Amino acid sequence: MTIEATTIPNLPSEMKAWEVTTPGPIDGDRAPLAFVTKPVPTPERGEVMVKVLACGVCHTDLHVTEGDLAVHHEHVTPGHEIVGEVVATGPEAGRFKLGDRIGIPWLRWTCGVCQFCRSGRENLCPNSLYTGWDHDGGYAEYVTAPEGFAYRIPERFDNITAAPLLCAGIIGYRAFRRANIPAGGRLGLYGFGGSAHITAQIAMDQGMEVHVLTRGADARKFALELGAKSAQGAYDLPPVKLDSAIIFAPVGDIVPKALEGLAPGGTLALAGIHLTDIPSLNYQAHIFHEKNLTSVESNNRRDGEEFLTLADRLDIHPETTPYAFDKADEALRYVKKGDIRGACVLKIGD
Ligand SMILES: [Zn+2]
Ligand SMILES: [Zn+2]
Repeated sequence: MTIEATTIPNLPSEMKAWEVTTPGPIDGDRAPLAFVTKPVPTPERGEVMVKVLACGVCHTDLHVTEGDLAVHHEHVTPGHEIVGEVVATGPEAGRFKLGDRIGIPWLRWTCGVCQFCRSGRENLCPNSLYTGWDHDGGYAEYVTAPEGFAYRIPERFDNITAAPLLCAGIIGYRAFRRANIPAGGRLGLYGFGGSAHITAQIAMDQGMEVHVLTRGADARKFALELGAKSAQGAYDLPPVKLDSAIIFAPVGDIVPKALEGLAPGGTLALAGIHLTDIPSLNYQAHIFHEKNLTSVESNNRRDGEEFLTLADRLDIHPETTPYAFDKADEALRYVKKGDIRGACVLKIGD
């Protein structure tokens, strides 16, 4: 049986979108992002197209915009926490109907045949592609994606609140699992933006004690309001030895201090796709006593489905700051400053 392409009537042919012109500092003299008019894309075989309703602003968008991550696609449109309504489906795309609300995340495609894909570790697939890096993302009015990598979004989340679940939430959840926290254990979170504030809620819902270490005074205050046991500077030692910790800030200098703050047998997970260099470590102070140091690479689709189910069942409530679509550059500057309450989200469409 063949599945025909479908589309809503009267789709426009052009749209507004942001694109990275030449990567560079978002707060420098030359703007690395431009707000442009470009053609509305067409979904290919197995793809859906959504009208974007909201798109989260993730720290990774800043890495793409500033050039911390190599250019994979010239003039790429950033954005990979996309909530949208299906307005067209390509040939052989039958999973969603026109009008469905779906989420398009960071992981855009994996090959399905390499040793990692075939062993439940598609996040390590060497052929993987990413939304808003390898392919245009959601700082746009319309975006396409392979249907098999999209998610249905729990109804109780509105468009703005749902957006940060799609990367901050899912990657935070994978980091949380990689950090191997014992039941009722003590978890340290270094950096407290979009991802950490959702991860903190999962941990506390499971009876864990959360300690936050971050540079921003407002972010520390927010952490305490959410129920963190303590909040202090990013380079401080935690008030108690931690069973596990996750570094969300892209700052390698924090690693030795975070390892020092771990209890014997503890685990430190590095959640980011980019980290500045890690200074040299002292075996006795940082690694001995069977401490574990690990990184987190993206996520697989099982992490995404599990997390969205948990987010629906637990009382997860992302804190968001909405920005108008044409203020994406301003939102990125705010993310860069780091003193943030939850996550910034672009409000796109009506
Ligand atoms: Zn693969
Ligand atoms: Zn992200």
